[in-house]
Amino acid sequence: MAKLSDPITVLKGIGTARARQFAQLNIFTLRDLICHFPRGYEDRTRLVDIAALEADVPACFRATVMNTPRTAHIRKGLDLTRVQVADATGRLTLTFFNSPYAAEQLRYGQEYVFYGTVSGDYAGYGMTNPVFELPDSQPVTTRRILPLYPLTAGLSNAAMLRAVRQALALCDPPAEILPESVRLAYGIPGADRAYRAIHEPQSMAEAELAKKRLIFEEFFIFSAGLALMRSSRAEKRTEPWENRDLGPFYASLPFTLTGAQQRAIDEILADLGSGAPMNRLVQGDVGSGKTMVAAAAAYCAILNHRQAAMMAPTEILAEQHYRSFSRLFEPLGIRTVLLTGSLTPKRKREIREAIAAGEADMVVGTHALLSEATVFRDLGLVVTDEQHRFGVAQRSRLSAKGSDPHLLVMSATPIPRTLALLMYGDLEVSVLNELPPGREPVDTFLVNESYRPRINAFIRKQVAEGHQCFVVCPAVEESEALGMKAATVWAQTLEQTVFPDLRIALIHGQMKGAEKEAVMAAFARGEADVLVATTVVEVGVDVPNATLMVIEDADRFGLSQLHQLRGRVGRGGSKSYCILTSQNRNPETLSRLKALCKTTDGFRIAEEDLKLRGPGDFFGSRQSGLPAFRVANLSMDLETLKQAQAASAAWIEAEGTADTPEGIALRDRIGDLFRRAEGTMN
Ligand code: ADP
Ligand code: MG
Repeated sequence: MAKLSDPITVLKGIGTARARQFAQLNIFTLRDLICHFPRGYEDRTRLVDIAALEADVPACFRATVMNTPRTAHIRKGLDLTRVQVADATGRLTLTFFNSPYAAEQLRYGQEYVFYGTVSGDYAGYGMTNPVFELPDSQPVTTRRILPLYPLTAGLSNAAMLRAVRQALALCDPPAEILPESVRLAYGIPGADRAYRAIHEPQSMAEAELAKKRLIFEEFFIFSAGLALMRSSRAEKRTEPWENRDLGPFYASLPFTLTGAQQRAIDEILADLGSGAPMNRLVQGDVGSGKTMVAAAAAYCAILNHRQAAMMAPTEILAEQHYRSFSRLFEPLGIRTVLLTGSLTPKRKREIREAIAAGEADMVVGTHALLSEATVFRDLGLVVTDEQHRFGVAQRSRLSAKGSDPHLLVMSATPIPRTLALLMYGDLEVSVLNELPPGREPVDTFLVNESYRPRINAFIRKQVAEGHQCFVVCPAVEESEALGMKAATVWAQTLEQTVFPDLRIALIHGQMKGAEKEAVMAAFARGEADVLVATTVVEVGVDVPNATLMVIEDADRFGLSQLHQLRGRVGRGGSKSYCILTSQNRNPETLSRLKALCKTTDGFRIAEEDLKLRGPGDFFGSRQSGLPAFRVANLSMDLETLKQAQAASAAWIEAEGTADTPEGIALRDRIGDLFRRAEGTMN
């Protein structure tokens, strides 16, 4: 017997070269191999007579070879092997292209099982390149349901099949994590049967059931993990924060808070005074004013002599928050610092010393905050902005820098309810469903290239009125562009040919942090009229004087992403516009983009986006911080998700993860899943 954690090189036929190919698919251990599930199946169980073969319908049949295979050399690189086969009902000519194997293996007078398709293209029906096996052999390519695996260069489906079969013969699949009561209640098979059946199902129905079980299992592990986190936090106590008079903070604001902002702040203050660590998500559409809500919470922390930290997903955003917080807090005597990866080592050291000594009250930063070198004197509040970019694990890593600090999560992306349950199942939610007064919705238009002169004229008009424009391109450079507008090239065209008299600036993700900041800051100061950008301006960047956003090749972006981008304008008091250009003629694509023109309801857009693209792409690839589910598809398996959530909640409530074999296995798997989720972020 082998162990699941053994490397795949314990298998026959897998040496280091082969192992490298498997590594391409992230398969290193027997466990990885057994958890490498088929993407589909080919049903090769149907066995028919030759007379019953139908054109273009693949099938298996048993037949005897009627002559010695003859190979003809047609031309360089093309050998044809022909052979006659027959059963009691008829005869058939088989043709193999370049197959010394067939020429050698097929013996006159011997019976085989073949699987192939007779082509209906020409009279006298023939079959090309069928696969075949001896009737008494173990079914591999015929007489079975053939799993079709995700593959990589050099690795054939047959090789994968052999490896998986060996692995399943050598060791037991992952241990059972679902209690028997749950399996019975939902009519799903046990782990051993499911893991074997997904690879070697006896019927399509069995494959389906195995898949259902594995999807259920993934969701069960994930929701059990969230439920455990929630319950372990619910037991924690902290000292209630007594000072919750935010009067001076409110007085220093340049505006009155919206009702929604005030409600969210009140909910937060109640949490902070409750004596249990806060776990709250503030969800609000772009421009709803989440930063002020975070600032209020931070102010309360500092009022209670604790430090507050805010983590943002990009340097630009961290820098912008740093500026807003400094402006707001400096008059109140609060010291704000910025910690990002692009600071010089010396500067980083100084900042970290200030944080450790408690000389910094408000710490704004990027992932650099998570580094071990960052130590807080007394971290009382952790805020993560645009949380969907961070994983659950990162959230807890920052929290671990304090002793059970309060946690506030800000999300600008309206997240469909189902997805929110998954990502934030352990959080309370405050919704900012109101925009600050004086905001008009951004008028959005979809146009094709024939509108180019009008777009240019419109940009001119906005600039003439003293406003600024964003022009967003889907790519940075021509080379990766493949028919898309590239920011660098387009900026040059605008500068040299279209608007030689305007001030054009360029910002993209390949620029250094300091460079980006300089460009962004200059644009915010009004030192450029048009900012050509990639999606680096997507999150949170605030330039109230910008009134026009042109998005080139808009079909290249996701709907939620477009909605986010559009949120960059309409942040001042002036009427703002968004122009989507697209050369795409696909009616479906166009109708999606038109839908975006009609609605500004982020939640509806998000639902639509999720349906269209699935959660993997929903937040941009690999950025969701969600675990990579192996079988489950969040947009399709919602029913199973709900069942698994209910089942795991009920079970944890009743049993905790008791030291039953299932409970122990479940805890292991929860650990694995969250580690993997974190892995995808790095
Ligand atoms: P988001 O929710 O997208 O993070 P921000 O917090 O960046 O939104 O706020 C968007 C803009 O609205 C900022 O310029 C901010 O100063 C301004 N703002 C926030 N709250 C109010 C308010 N109550 N009244 C007027 N302007 C506000
Ligand atoms: Mg924001």
